[in-house]
Amino acid sequence: MTHTAHRILIVGGGYAGFYTAWKLEKRLRRGEAEVTIVDPLAYMTYQPFLPEVAAGSIEARHSVVPLRRHLKRTRIVAAKVTGIDHAHKTATITPIAGEPYQQEYDQIVVTAGAVSRTFPIPGIADNAIGLKTIEEAVAIRDRLLTNFDKAAALPPGPERERLLTVVVVGGGFAGIEVFAELRSFASSLVAKYPELTFDETHFHLIEAMGRIMPEVSLKTSEWVLKDLAKRGAFVHLDTQVTSAVDGDVELSTGEVIPADLIVWTAGVMANPTVVRGGDLPVEERGRIRTRADLRVGTDDEIVEGAWAAGDVAAVPDLSGGGVGGYCVPNAQHAVRQGKLLAKNIVAVLRGENPVDYLHKNLGAVAGLGLYNGAFQSGNIAIKGFLAWLAHRGYHGLAMPTWERKLRVVAGWLGNVVLGRDMANLEAVQHPRAAFEEFAARPRPAQPAVTPPQAPRDAGAAADAPEKSRVAAGR
Ligand SMILES: Cc1cc2nc3c(=O)[nH]c(=O)nc-3n(C[C@H](O)[C@H](O)[C@H](O)COP(=O)(O)OP(=O)(O)OC[C@H]3O[C@@H](n4cnc5c(N)ncnc54)[C@H](O)[C@@H]3O)c2cc1C
Repeated sequence: MTHTAHRILIVGGGYAGFYTAWKLEKRLRRGEAEVTIVDPLAYMTYQPFLPEVAAGSIEARHSVVPLRRHLKRTRIVAAKVTGIDHAHKTATITPIAGEPYQQEYDQIVVTAGAVSRTFPIPGIADNAIGLKTIEEAVAIRDRLLTNFDKAAALPPGPERERLLTVVVVGGGFAGIEVFAELRSFASSLVAKYPELTFDETHFHLIEAMGRIMPEVSLKTSEWVLKDLAKRGAFVHLDTQVTSAVDGDVELSTGEVIPADLIVWTAGVMANPTVVRGGDLPVEERGRIRTRADLRVGTDDEIVEGAWAAGDVAAVPDLSGGGVGGYCVPNAQHAVRQGKLLAKNIVAVLRGENPVDYLHKNLGAVAGLGLYNGAFQSGNIAIKGFLAWLAHRGYHGLAMPTWERKLRVVAGWLGNVVLGRDMANLEAVQHPRAAFEEFAARPRPAQPAVTPPQAPRDAGAAADAPEKSRVAAGR
């Protein structure tokens, strides 16, 4: 089969991948290229909403964008890319059902994002949960609610205290947001549980550095610390987790905090499956070495036909504001890089020159629970209610597609009138339990027993009740 159109393969339909495909659909002429997006998930996740999903302020399904609904001219493949052989322009596709196969391409776009980065601390892999996916956010919310139910059924004591203790590890943006949102959620829940008191709920955030939220000024970060302390949430600075075996969180200070909900947000790393499973160049921090025009390679050497963007890519930050000279992993960059990447691919296909990526950080805005937030742009800082409004305004607008924006904003307005939704669907993790409990099963087959030989008349008498039973059953 001969291919007249260029085959563009996008690895990962998250922020950068979704925007690349969306903009390619707008820019490409009909028949100019075939675009395929490969992602094991059928949706792009708006990760900045995860803390609000965990706190019940946003419905989980509203904070994801279904790929098939919004990418009308892109082929969507539910699979993982598990290998990239760029020397032969072939990717290994491992579908969610069926056998792995090889897919040829002309241009590859690597936008497979990042995963939670952990350290080999005993107990963390078994007892903690990350916050990178919608499933994790939902599970965190349901666990908090289930723990409140369990604690309310127990007398005061160590088990009840453990159930009402939340530990978040990592004081970056995501960590502080989910910590503050969960504190706010738990405070509102206490009013619905007459068996429990506010003082019984314990919130601890563990941060290895001497400050939180490096994206905002020291002054703003100190305000956030004070505000959290006022709300009964404790931040342990200059402290590390040394163990979490059986949920007992041991700190480098010697303190031990037994907890039933441990959220790990202490950093991310470029997607190892895609980075290590391929032959594209990788830099010291494990990201794909990418040029400012988003082609893979260096200033001196271009890897023809390969592009990368978002958290998986080390893109030079030409604004001078990046860490180590590279763009930091955030949505601000991922979305803009995705848009430019689409423009640059089309330019290259048409024999034109791609342009360099340049974006000056707009600042940072964090939601810190209902009616509370922090905003920082340069020297300008806003705290409290106005910052919370800015947070909702910014993210409400930034959510891709009007269809999704409307669902999120309608949910927020509904919550103003009705309050946030505290329905707990943790049982969905065992959806067949209720059905199985009462389901009728066939009786196990009885081993065949040969009846003893009986006299003729007695046998006829013994048959009689059996016959009448069969007749009654008709
Ligand atoms: C809790 C939280 C809050 C945040 N808040 C903010 C914020 O307020 N502002 C901000 O700017 N940024 C924020 N971020 C960061 C931002 O969300 C990320 O930087 C952004 O999502 C990165 O986009 P991406 O496209 O590189 O990766 P992602 O959006 O993570 O997408 C990667 C995609 O690749 C797919 N994938 C993974 N492995 C494979 C594979 N093997 N094959 C194919 N596909 C694969 C995944 O399923 C996913 O869909 C936040 C992040 C988190 C976790």
